Amino acid sequence: MTTGQSLAEVYDAEQFRAIGKELIDVLADHLNDLQHKEGKKVYPNHAPEDELQFWEDDLKQESTPIQTLTTLLNRSQQTQHPKYMGHQTAVPAPISALTGMVTSLVNNSTGVFEMGPASNAMERVVTDFTAKKVGYNSSASGIMTSGGSLANLTALLAARKDKAPHNVWEEGHNEKLAVLVSEEAHYCIDRAARILGLGDKGIIKIPVDHNFKIRTDLLPQYLDKAKADGLHVFCVIGCAGSTATGSYDDLDVLAEFCEAYNLWLHVDGAHGGAVVFSEKYKDLTKGVEKADSVAIDFHKMLMTPVLSTALMFKEGNKIYRTFAQRAQYLWDSPETEEWYNSAKRTFECSKPFLSAQVYLILKTHGMDIFEKNVNQLYDSAKLLSNLITAKPEFDLVHQPESNIVNFRFVPNKKMNINELNALNTDIRKRLVASGNFYIVQTTIANQRTLRCTVMNPLTSEADFVELLNEIEKEATSILGAQIAYV
Ligand SMILES: *Cc1c(COP(=O)(O)O)cnc(C)c1O
Repeated sequence: MTTGQSLAEVYDAEQFRAIGKELIDVLADHLNDLQHKEGKKVYPNHAPEDELQFWEDDLKQESTPIQTLTTLLNRSQQTQHPKYMGHQTAVPAPISALTGMVTSLVNNSTGVFEMGPASNAMERVVTDFTAKKVGYNSSASGIMTSGGSLANLTALLAARKDKAPHNVWEEGHNEKLAVLVSEEAHYCIDRAARILGLGDKGIIKIPVDHNFKIRTDLLPQYLDKAKADGLHVFCVIGCAGSTATGSYDDLDVLAEFCEAYNLWLHVDGAHGGAVVFSEKYKDLTKGVEKADSVAIDFHKMLMTPVLSTALMFKEGNKIYRTFAQRAQYLWDSPETEEWYNSAKRTFECSKPFLSAQVYLILKTHGMDIFEKNVNQLYDSAKLLSNLITAKPEFDLVHQPESNIVNFRFVPNKKMNINELNALNTDIRKRLVASGNFYIVQTTIANQRTLRCTVMNPLTSEADFVELLNEIEKEATSILGAQIAYV
């Protein structure tokens, strides 16, 4: 470990310049290799304990910052690799790496205008742009926050403030509150509801249909049952789309139901809300403009690094009431609505300069770049699902509505569910260990599925063909070994 630099050296501009110039070359070469060089691994596949040991040892050794950063690069999951088709993490536009350098250096903490003048103004520009794409009118407004989980929690707090019969924020709980949500919702909704103090009974999970969409026909009876059980339902959460399969709930019908019963409609569009930027796919969220709030992650399909989320409100003033509180040292008048003091409307006090990433991507690559990305990813997923359907030994679990594709390898119909689950688990393990592809898995109706999320717009048809071939090869070798063993 290098020791003994003075604080003056830490902040020395020339040292920074020298490392920075070299680093850009390292990063550009790395990116180029991942995109074009044969044989670059997607995932290094080290065991957690080995990885820990490596870094404990590394800390004791001499190396330059460039050497350490290069090691870090190579020991990471390579989301920039076209054969990365794993979790729903964006393949960041490289301009965002450069933007991140600048926002890290200025380190404006955004909460109040004076600690982020550009940050607060850009946040307004970005959220106004996004609100317009949602279909909201000028009474809407939004915030940027650190992730979909926090955005969903914030939305539920706003919903409770607006629709609960008493003021929990000030008085605490004196009534049992509840929300209605699809059983396919992201786990953070369940967690948010528990943080709000709703408990098991306050999270009412509605079954889904064969397309994994919330059964809207069941809503009235679940609402009646909740009332009979002494619960006060204040909010319905729609999935756009759901986590496992990327299925979109019928937001039009949900909005109609919420209107009829005076409930808040929140749309969890963390992943699939990005289609509001696409003419081709925006009908998947038809009715979203009637929702009271909607969360969209930029760090999923909209090309920014983690975390960057927009939470939009149809009636922008409602978010100010959510966190109404005195903080004398931050602002003079807690009651007034000032868009430029971000912390009045977010859970966070200090908050990264999130809007710069979105702003720079739009400004550098064009206002239609998100649309191009969403269209490319969704079209690609359809292509992959067609390739899967064409192969008799593969079983497509559902037609993809988004860029999420679930499928299984089913070499013969006589294998029972346990054998198939074990086989598909093994296939993925070997595939990931090979480092040639990165895909994930999930369980749908007790069936272990292979799950690809097409995140990289550079992933090609040839990559998909190679993936399916490699799955067949791994399966043959697993089954061959089993037969030899018997
Ligand atoms: C990713 C995701 C979340 C959680 O968002 P984070 O940004 O990871 O906190 C919530 N809901 C859905 C549907 C998601 O895809």
